Amino acid sequence: MGKGKRGGKREARGERWEGNFYGNSENHKNQCYLRPLFSYICSMKIAKLNDGPEIFYTIQGEGKNMGRPSIFVRSSLCNLHCIWCDTDYTWNWEGTRFAHVKDADPAYQKFRMEEQIVEMTEEEIAAEVLKYPCKNLVLTGGEPLMQQLEWMALMKILWESDNDYFFEVETNGTIKPIPLFNMYIDQYNVSPKLANSHNKESLRLKPEALAYFAESPKSIFKFVLNKEEDFTEVQALIHTYQLAPNRIYLMPEGTSPADLTTKQQWLVELCKQYGFNYTDRLHVHIYGAKRGV
Ligand code: SF4
Repeated sequence: MGKGKRGGKREARGERWEGNFYGNSENHKNQCYLRPLFSYICSMKIAKLNDGPEIFYTIQGEGKNMGRPSIFVRSSLCNLHCIWCDTDYTWNWEGTRFAHVKDADPAYQKFRMEEQIVEMTEEEIAAEVLKYPCKNLVLTGGEPLMQQLEWMALMKILWESDNDYFFEVETNGTIKPIPLFNMYIDQYNVSPKLANSHNKESLRLKPEALAYFAESPKSIFKFVLNKEEDFTEVQALIHTYQLAPNRIYLMPEGTSPADLTTKQQWLVELCKQYGFNYTDRLHVHIYGAKRGV
């Protein structure tokens, strides 16, 4: 996307930042007049991988931009606890009572939080991102919207270095974005969790947040289905929030190519019948259930 096309967004983003958190956009860290708040903002919890942050260059494996080269930054922490979650190292801490499908494996243990998180400033994260020849950044987790102020600080730095950056965020749709965060985001990949996730409905479906995403033209909706019966819930959500078919992506639950393939046929038939999009988990087919790819 050319810079000219995004001029309006550039101005909007720049104006909103000046005078809100920083006195000057240059060397803003030194000139911040809200020092106590900023010292909080500039520490972000990133998932740890091999003693470093889980920041990697790969392809987007799911949804509208499936196949697009992308940089992923994986934040830690989640406000849900899906039983099949494949990033359980961002939330399934020792001492918690949450169940996980891997509990059946004697070798599986909950995670020690301090061993799974890297605290980084937004400048340090930006330096990692800027190493890659790519302008599509995927904010993922965990639940990224638990750290909106921190992401805003990162996006500001990246976007000021090049306003061709495209920011898409993977969210479970339970937290409403704040206006300044929203200003930087180009696309919300909203994945409301169904009963198959084993979260209580009152936790996984937040009407105010879902209504926000439904009204935002930046949102697409990605539903993870395990069995054909799950589709009844998807239909109810589509009806409640009046979601157009072209915004809907149906995705199989699974962490192995075999898992995904067995669910493809009936999911594709549903997509054909209702005019929805099918999305695979391309990274699983290419790399398997590995982290950092
Ligand atoms: S919302 Fe996402 S990160 Fe959080 S537990 Fe569910 S699948 Fe995992």
